[in-house]
Amino acid sequence: MTQTIDGKRISQEIKDELKERVAALAGEGKEAALAVIQVGDDAASAVYVNNKKKACAYIGIKSVSYELPAETAEEELLALIAKLNGDGSVNGILVQLPLPAHINEDNVIRAIDPSKDVDGFHPENVGKLVIGEPGFVSCTPAGIVQLLKRSEIPIAGKRCVVVGRSNIVGKPMAILMLRENATVTVAHSKTEDLPQLCREADILIVAIGKPRFITADYVKEGAVVIDVGIHRDEKNRLCGDVDYEAVAPLTSAITPVPGGVGPMTIAMLMYNCVKTMS
Ligand code: NDP
Repeated sequence: MTQTIDGKRISQEIKDELKERVAALAGEGKEAALAVIQVGDDAASAVYVNNKKKACAYIGIKSVSYELPAETAEEELLALIAKLNGDGSVNGILVQLPLPAHINEDNVIRAIDPSKDVDGFHPENVGKLVIGEPGFVSCTPAGIVQLLKRSEIPIAGKRCVVVGRSNIVGKPMAILMLRENATVTVAHSKTEDLPQLCREADILIVAIGKPRFITADYVKEGAVVIDVGIHRDEKNRLCGDVDYEAVAPLTSAITPVPGGVGPMTIAMLMYNCVKTMS
C-alpha cells in the first residue's frame, strides 16, 4: 500500500508546536520579529510573501514588511539590510527571491547577518551545514527531512538519490541526508543513464524544475519518492517534477503536489524564526 505523505498535516503540526513555543518564550519576555523584503511586484512572490506573513501571525511572530519598487538600486537594498542587521528588535531578515535582474542576488545574500539569515542561504550557514555545526538550514530541504521523520520513514543506511544540485534545494538536501546517515548520490543534467541511477534509490528526491519528468521507468518498486517541483500544467493544474499517477502505485510512500513539500517550506521558515528567539 502506498502511503501519501501529508505535508499539509505535518506542516500544521509543526506550526502548532512553534505557536506553543512562542507563547512560552513570550512568557519569559522574549519576542521575535521577521523583516520581509520584497523588491518589485512579481505576482508569485507577492503570494509567497503574504503566506509567510500569515504564518508569522499564526504562530505569534511579528512581521515587518518592506515593499520596494522594482527599480530599487542594489545599494539601497544593501543599505536597508545593513540597517536591519543593526536593529536589535529584528531577529530574522528574509529577502524574497528572485530579485530584479539588475540586483546581484549573491551580494544581497552575503549582506544579511548570518545570525539573522532565516533562509539559511548565507555562505556561513551553508558552511556550517556542511561541517555539521548548528546554524540555519535552507527551509525546503529541512522540511523534507521532517516529512520523512514524521512519517516514520527510516533514512539511516538507505540509498538516497537527489536529482538536482541547486544551492537552495539539491545541495543542502544531499548534505542533510548524509547527516541522517543515508548513502547519497547527487544527479544533475550531465548525469548519464539517470533512469538506471534513480532505480537504485530507496529514497528518491526530485528537484529539477521539469513538469512530470520522472516516470515509472525511474522508480524502484517500494521506493519513497519526494517531489519538490511545482508547476502549472497545460490545463492550469498544479503538478510536480514527478508523474504522480504513473509513479505512485510503485512507491511505498510519495509526496503529492500540491500538499507535499510545498507547505513544509514555510513551516521550516517559522522554525528558523523561532530559533532566533532562544
Ligand atoms: P534549479 O533550476 O535551480 O535547479 C535544477 C536542477 O535540476 C539543476 O541542478 C539541474 O542540473 C537539474 N536538472 C535539470 N534538468 C535535468 C535533467 N534533465 N536531468 C537531471 N537533472 C536535471 O531549480 P531549484 O532547485 O530551485 O528548484 C527545483 C524545483 O523545485 C522547481 O520546480 C522549483 O519550482 C521547485 N521548488 C519548490 C519549492 C517548494 O517549496 N516546494 C522550493 C524551491 C524550489 P544542472 O545543475 O546540471 O543544470
